[in-house]
Amino acid sequence: MLLNIPDWPAAVPLQPLSFDWSARAGLELAVLRMDLLDPLLGGNKWFKLQPHLRQAQRAGAHGLISLGGAHSNHLHALAAAAQRFGFASVGLLRGEPQDTPTVSDLQAFGMQLHWLGFGGYRARHQADFARDWLQRYPHFQLVAEGGSGALGASGFADIPQLITQQLAQLGWSDYDGCWLAAGTGTTLAGLVLAEAGRHPLYGASVVPAGYGVEQQVRQILQQAGHADAGYRLLDASRGGYARIDRELAVFIAEVEQAGQLPLEACYTGKALLALRQQVEQGMFARGTRLVFLHTGGMQGRRAQQSLLRRHAAQSSLQAISHE
Ligand SMILES: *Cc1c(COP(=O)(O)O)cnc(C)c1O
Repeated sequence: MLLNIPDWPAAVPLQPLSFDWSARAGLELAVLRMDLLDPLLGGNKWFKLQPHLRQAQRAGAHGLISLGGAHSNHLHALAAAAQRFGFASVGLLRGEPQDTPTVSDLQAFGMQLHWLGFGGYRARHQADFARDWLQRYPHFQLVAEGGSGALGASGFADIPQLITQQLAQLGWSDYDGCWLAAGTGTTLAGLVLAEAGRHPLYGASVVPAGYGVEQQVRQILQQAGHADAGYRLLDASRGGYARIDRELAVFIAEVEQAGQLPLEACYTGKALLALRQQVEQGMFARGTRLVFLHTGGMQGRRAQQSLLRRHAAQSSLQAISHE
């Protein structure tokens, strides 16, 4: 089978994780390293793409079309997967042409790029948008922005089993919940369905309230005939999607310097910082065992690097001048 990746537990290890703040609160932490799955296909985007790729394969599609911004983890994974599994790929990009590390990779993966401007990109929800592009690229399959929706959500069905299989290595008999970043909320909804009430999910939303995450999660659960329950959504956006502030930059630098976990600023960094804040506010009882999902996205880190460095450097200068 084309899409099978052998030995999932070895490729997506569950690792123990400990910080001074988690230890103080008596919280036991582990991280599911989705980011380690594959150098190019790692992260939650691969799980959302899998069902689309299977569908495209069954339908005999020639290629995949999708949408995103100039730093999109979704387009990056889609272009890499298309190249690996023999599909053509077309990327519809938001805004005006720009060079980013992500865009260079998309081109290297052979993705055909179309820059839609900002107005053109907003038209993506109109009925004729998909029709027009599919006329231009017949026999292509359209994948929603961010790989969102019920089909993408179905790609997480095996995750609870992947966690459970590895619990013994941590000396855990069970876990009390999973904590993860939410963008469109598709991954969160997929895990709620996969857990079917066995363990609660905590979605740290990296987009502010009112941007549709709540509805998206609810809609996917409804479509699947599942109650709108089994999860909590918390605001981890820090004032805006992709906004990087100094506290976040310093946090990421500290976690990395301690050799614990690579993070980026848009998703995993914000999600873990939100967890720390909630833990410090006493959200979890002592003895709680939580799995943090590392959803990947490290390719996006390249464009954040200089800002992260600048913030972290400024803050160590301040620390010196305050001594
Ligand atoms: C896209 C992304 C998310 C959000 O996933 P959704 O399914 O859209 O909620 C989380 N983490 C990373 C690293 C991502 O790239």
